[in-house]
Amino acid sequence: MSKFIFVTGGVTSSLGKGIISSSLAKLLQARGLKVTIQKFDPYINVDPGTLNPYEHGECFVTDDGAETDLDLGHYERFLNISTSQANNVTTGRIYQTVINKEREGDFLGKTVQIIPHITDEIKRRIKLLEKDDYDVIVTELGGTVGDIESLPYLEALRQLKRELKNKDCLVIHLTLIPYLKAAGEHKTKPTQHSVKELQMAGIIPDVLVCRTESHISEEIKEKLALFCNVEKSNVIEAVDADTIYRVPILMQEEELDKIVIDHLHLEPKKSLDLTKWNDFLHRYKHPKAEVNIILVGKYNELADAYKSIYEALDHAGAENSCKINVVPIHSENLDDTSLPLEIHKIHGLIVAPGFGDRGIEGKIKAVQYVREQGIPFLGICLGMQCAVVEFFRNVVGLSDVSSTEVNPEAAHPVIALMSDQKDIRQKGGTMRLGAYQCILKKGTKAFEIYGAPHNGEIYERHRHRYEFNNAYKGYLEKHGMIPSGVNPKNDLIEIVELPDHPFFVGVQFHPEYKSRVEEPHPLFVSFVQSAINYKDDKVKLNTL
Ligand code: GLN
Repeated sequence: MSKFIFVTGGVTSSLGKGIISSSLAKLLQARGLKVTIQKFDPYINVDPGTLNPYEHGECFVTDDGAETDLDLGHYERFLNISTSQANNVTTGRIYQTVINKEREGDFLGKTVQIIPHITDEIKRRIKLLEKDDYDVIVTELGGTVGDIESLPYLEALRQLKRELKNKDCLVIHLTLIPYLKAAGEHKTKPTQHSVKELQMAGIIPDVLVCRTESHISEEIKEKLALFCNVEKSNVIEAVDADTIYRVPILMQEEELDKIVIDHLHLEPKKSLDLTKWNDFLHRYKHPKAEVNIILVGKYNELADAYKSIYEALDHAGAENSCKINVVPIHSENLDDTSLPLEIHKIHGLIVAPGFGDRGIEGKIKAVQYVREQGIPFLGICLGMQCAVVEFFRNVVGLSDVSSTEVNPEAAHPVIALMSDQKDIRQKGGTMRLGAYQCILKKGTKAFEIYGAPHNGEIYERHRHRYEFNNAYKGYLEKHGMIPSGVNPKNDLIEIVELPDHPFFVGVQFHPEYKSRVEEPHPLFVSFVQSAINYKDDKVKLNTL
């Protein structure tokens, strides 16, 4: 039987419930326990796939093709596990299921209500992961206590707490302890109020994790314990960290794992082993090199829109003991004059994934520049499509080349809608989503990058509607672009590369989704390595 940990949030959003949940799960996993995390999001969208990245940041994609909240990315990166459809559920999905059941007549004429029908569905989804024999299931309740949207979740949690034994479930409330400069002290009142909200919903939290900018005193902890009805030893602080990857260490110092193990009567299978994690942190904090990587995208004012790319670069940077400075550039701001100005201090360039035609020409220009200058280039999804368009325009020499997403009338649609996408009108969940097999061609850079463990066969995650148009396949190798990875089932080209370039790789999939702290993605590792080499060569040339 699995044990359940629930993580609620109080006072304000953006306190980092996902990071605290991931950190705790990491500490339990590092003691040999089998752990997973799921997130409930209280909005009505069925999944975040249709949400604008400006509103919600990146949409993360799982192996089984779920479009999920970006916190799932943190879960995977921290725990080095793959999540699935069951790990992210929204209010929209809950209601959709209940309404579908009602249409099927499953409720036998009963009035369908929030209690018990919606709350039952929430509880069913929480327990769904039990079938995979986890020792611990951590459930993060999105939103902030006090939101109208959160109420059904809190009610489901209250019921579950009643159904489960005390030793089988634990509630952690993550809250904010602001420091008022004028008064010169930390303030507990917002937390008292948010815990009161929880108590009004019938839930007394077992643990308070207090987000704070500076250490809180014993007196403050005592006050919180008294007013919030929590053991003082279970009031712990989460001080701002220099990197999210330090948080598991901070939580261990605060003994959050011990509190949880004692409360849930867990039996760790080994003593805490964070060797790999600490190795990563050490390399991350003590880099021996430093490179600048341009990230060309159209949501660049918001790093969250490219969360997994930033994280994958950090993992790959640490692997190479190299600090990565990501320089975000808005593709709409790229023109012939700005490019060389920006790029002269750059050691690598990524063209980000994206949708629609906005900023596309800037991306294509950026590709042309790095191709011609021999600067390491990684094109991801739309980035790969831009690389192909650029190649056909400027190397093959065709005119009026485009992707049909950008110009449906182009004379040479080298990127076109996949045939199984042609009749699809609905937007949500209808792209090519999730992990697909890709066979790597021997002797190519891609084959070498992925290396022996993969033996030329990889599975990478997709999220797109358009593809390389195989009617143009004949031109590729003839003009020097190698299709180095192909889907064996439908012959779709998933990777292209230029052999005469230090590093020029475009991938139709999203390698960033599979990069983990303890298992950085080989494509990013190799890309960063090339950027380091490029910088070294440039330095050598300048000093000659
Ligand atoms: N818009 C492109 C497509 O749908 C690329 C998508 C992406 O970059 N994820 O194929």
